[in-house]
Amino acid sequence: MTDELFRDDAARLACSAVVTAVSDAGIELDRTVFYPQGGGQAGDTGLLTRADGATLAITDTRKGVEPGQILHLVAPGTDLAGWTAGQAVTATIDAARRQAHRRFHTATHLLCALVPHPVDGCSITAGYARLDFHMTEPLDKEALTDGIARLVAAAHPVTTRWITDAELDANPGLVRSMSVQPPRGTGTVRTIRVGRDTLVDYQPCGGTHVANTAEIGAVVVTKIEKKSATTRRVVLGFAD
Ligand SMILES: [Zn+2]
Repeated sequence: MTDELFRDDAARLACSAVVTAVSDAGIELDRTVFYPQGGGQAGDTGLLTRADGATLAITDTRKGVEPGQILHLVAPGTDLAGWTAGQAVTATIDAARRQAHRRFHTATHLLCALVPHPVDGCSITAGYARLDFHMTEPLDKEALTDGIARLVAAAHPVTTRWITDAELDANPGLVRSMSVQPPRGTGTVRTIRVGRDTLVDYQPCGGTHVANTAEIGAVVVTKIEKKSATTRRVVLGFAD
């Protein structure tokens, strides 16, 4: 089980760690800042650096089959000779990619606040984000872009809180997503709240977010698609 440092500090870009397993499936560490693909959000990329200076490029991060297992992937054909369990490393993520994920991911929470319908699909990458809403009404591109800009300008704080499974069960309305169920089994579920005095959005979420909506910056709705009779897809891009 890897200690998931990104859960409590999405701004952290590096950590020291110890290699716990090396295989063709990937490198495992005792703790990591690398977010594994999940909840619609892409995995982190970056670098592992050994004490002797040797480096290993991490091309993606995925969850393994074991609960809590995180695999740091390398490019096919990479020579892993010299990399063994027990080695001390520094794990460093690609800062620009993480920041893009944080900005887009938090922007999708703002979209959830603006579009009061269940989410039935989500994809967050460094280049765009998209959310699919289960709804039949049309959506207005400019109105949504303006709505996001308003919430960004309002500089709402974004905070994390862990609640118990029982608290979640008592508030089923918290779960906005039909496609991504909050991770269970550990007894607690991580929730994200946007807004302190004004509640903008509040839902279970395991992804990486900015600490204040002002950090999202200039995000625009680039496309609205009717994916099916009951699905409207909203695509976000950076304006800067
Ligand atoms: Zn989130």
